[in-house]
Amino acid sequence: MPVPELVEQAREGKARAVARLISLVEDESSDLREVMAALTPHTGRAHVVGVTGAPGVGKSTSTSALVTELRSAGRRVAVLAIDPSSPFSGGALLGDRVRMGDHATDPDVFIRSMASRGHLGGLSWATPQALRVLDAAGFDVVVVETVGVGQSEVEIAGTADTTVVLLAPGMGDGIQAAKAGILEVGDLYVINKADRDGAQQVKRDLRSMLRLAERTDDAWDPPVLATVATTGEGVAEVVTRLDEHRAWARESGALERRRERRARDEIEAIALTAMRRRWGAVDGDRLDDLARRVASRGLDPYAAADALMETS
Ligand code: GDP
Repeated sequence: MPVPELVEQAREGKARAVARLISLVEDESSDLREVMAALTPHTGRAHVVGVTGAPGVGKSTSTSALVTELRSAGRRVAVLAIDPSSPFSGGALLGDRVRMGDHATDPDVFIRSMASRGHLGGLSWATPQALRVLDAAGFDVVVVETVGVGQSEVEIAGTADTTVVLLAPGMGDGIQAAKAGILEVGDLYVINKADRDGAQQVKRDLRSMLRLAERTDDAWDPPVLATVATTGEGVAEVVTRLDEHRAWARESGALERRRERRARDEIEAIALTAMRRRWGAVDGDRLDDLARRVASRGLDPYAAADALMETS
């Protein structure tokens, strides 16, 4: 299908066209330039909500409960589940339908898994483009769910308008939270599995850690909520607070600042990918040649980098 037609159908919210466009992103298709140019004027409306947390904390269950709550308010929702550790695409964690079985037949819910293909900066490059597709497709809320490993929480916080950090009792979360830098990135903290022993303790520990954390948007005091994702308890409150954060971010200018930062990262990722491709495809020999000369100490790495930039 030609790009203009595909874009038109995606904008009408047709799931197949949306899925096809996200596949183009995953495949780094050469059509993306045309796709993004056509989509960009129709974006900026969706509320991008990042959901992150350690494996097993209840992200999938919580996302599903969140979708249920948002749907009951009549909102159209897309879920982009990102697995930063897997090189496979399309349902890398589990089949999309299995993950979100309750919503599989709802035409106003779109669910998709995406994984980095292993190329450098893969997710920071692909995620904003996939989000642009979903935004232009008219979803009111786009939930980006990611496994909290390594730097991924911080990356997702850079991608979302509102970041939800999930914790649960019995997972050594206090220490994990401090280590992973999540104390700085959450706009909303949710203690899931509130039906289990120790939930109150996690809440208290987190609150006291948050008081000591150095946060950038200190005008926003992140709420700490409790949920039981398996029953939906507390999820309505999460939605209320998500909306509050969005309204605050709009009014305070924080949303605009975040979006500019995000655009900056995206431009950089696209430019770097283009440069790498050029060195690899057009002038791979030149890079190999320079590498040999630096390794054998015939050339210093700065001079080699200058030479590479000049030829590209
Ligand atoms: P994820 O790895 O973070 O996506 O976690 P999942 O959503 O797959 O949940 C991990 C396990 O915790 C599953 O067996 C869920 O049924 C269970 N679970 C999720 N939320 C709750 C909750 O609020 N209470 C209890 N008791 N179990 C939960």
